[in-house]
Amino acid sequence: MAKIEIERPMCISCGNCIDTCPELFEFADDGLSTLKGGQRVGDNDEQEIDDPGCSRDAEESCPVTIIHVYD
Ligand code: SF4
Repeated sequence: MAKIEIERPMCISCGNCIDTCPELFEFADDGLSTLKGGQRVGDNDEQEIDDPGCSRDAEESCPVTIIHVYD
């Protein structure tokens, strides 16, 4: 089990996470990255997932380091 988090207010909409991991990330209507199937918690998106899949690649691809994957 892993937990993925996006600190959405600091997203610069570069698209790296979506290009790297389209299974889990997409742009929301506000132009910021969001987690497919995630929950909005305050300003952030969070998702608990059995298989973190490509989320760690997305974490590494984010130029402003606002994607976090916790074991
Ligand atoms: S890689 Fe980071 S800054 Fe770029 S769209 Fe994804 S969350 Fe936003």
